[in-house]
Amino acid sequence: MPGFELFSDLERKEVNDVLDNGVLMRYGFDGMRKGHWKAKELETELATTFKSNHVQLVSSGTAAVSVALASAGVGAGDEVIMPTFTFVASFEAIMMLGAIPVLVDIDDTLSVDPKAVEAAITPKTKAVMVVQMCGSMGHMDALKQVCDSHHLLLVEDACQAIGATYKGEPLGSIGDLGCFSFDFVKTITCGEGGAVVTNNKDYYINADHYSDHGHDHIGSDRGAETHPALGYNFRISELHAAVGLAQVRRLPEFIAIQKRNYTILRNALENISGVTFRTVPEGGVESYAFLNFFLPNYEASQKVITEFKNNGVDACWNYFDNNWHYIRKWNHLKDLKSLMPISKEVKQGLEYLQTKTFEQSDSYISRNISCLIKLSWTEDEVRERAEKMAESIRSVLNS
Ligand SMILES: *Cc1c(COP(=O)(O)O)cnc(C)c1O
Repeated sequence: MPGFELFSDLERKEVNDVLDNGVLMRYGFDGMRKGHWKAKELETELATTFKSNHVQLVSSGTAAVSVALASAGVGAGDEVIMPTFTFVASFEAIMMLGAIPVLVDIDDTLSVDPKAVEAAITPKTKAVMVVQMCGSMGHMDALKQVCDSHHLLLVEDACQAIGATYKGEPLGSIGDLGCFSFDFVKTITCGEGGAVVTNNKDYYINADHYSDHGHDHIGSDRGAETHPALGYNFRISELHAAVGLAQVRRLPEFIAIQKRNYTILRNALENISGVTFRTVPEGGVESYAFLNFFLPNYEASQKVITEFKNNGVDACWNYFDNNWHYIRKWNHLKDLKSLMPISKEVKQGLEYLQTKTFEQSDSYISRNISCLIKLSWTEDEVRERAEKMAESIRSVLNS
């Protein structure tokens, strides 16, 4: 991660195809496009990559989450269970629909804890969102079981785990609906873009309509199409799709590089007493987009981050005080800072955030260090980094 590090002539060729015929929109203009349908082609490639029957490209990963939920009928007043550790997009996408995000603890997978999910279910719960953070996954069998037994949708946000698998199945393809982001810093990028994947044909058709103003996409006269239901505009452009098309074909290459770099770093830290690694559920294979490990306590993690900085080790974070990824600093959510009025139902639905504490999440996130695995590092650079990381950690833990 991120795919932009290795931009090449392959991306340029796809983009130039689009510029050469001048059709930047994914729908219509059939005569002008000289056979170029980049968004459609990318959807076909993604269906193969993610072993899913249907793929709907959209304008972002955040849009993908909203479109996925909307396509399955989640909306005003419905509760969606989601983790305390994720990107802010998760609650944004839920609240966009007038639904209520119900935050629950993560476990040592860094994804939502199945027990915490089960405890949070109410008659209003419609969906459970598992966010496959930092290249790995939650306890998918247990989460599926909870959802099945309570007749809830399982929605996977696999934005940070493109290319990871569980029991041979790509992440994103396991829940009822999966969401991907191809924003600028993801493993494969379109610049901006996202996708909803599903094996449910009805959800797919809904996503296809909803992401384009409710257009039914029947026939070849866009102006004559009917609107089976209200929609919105979450379209991707052909230019963005073109970049993604070149990138998705390179995903196996990207994952192989991530795996090599991750493995060198992990091996260097493996035998340091006091360092433990995030749990990857049995049958899970990471995308190797991040290396995550735990230290004995918050103080140690802070000292290690400082030591990393002193030694020139960049791209490693502790998320405890991070306002993008962890509940503790989401004050705009807790205080409901909104440009426009928020419904009574959502206001009431979020009152729990004034008092609820998340000790279990705190205990993992305060001790966690998350290191981005870059694609552009040479093997020598990774080995040097591995040495510096191991030295830094040892110097903190032995002092
Ligand atoms: C990046 C990301 C998103 C949002 O994707 P955008 O394309 O930036 O809107 C959602 N969830 C997670 C976990 C992400 O990492």
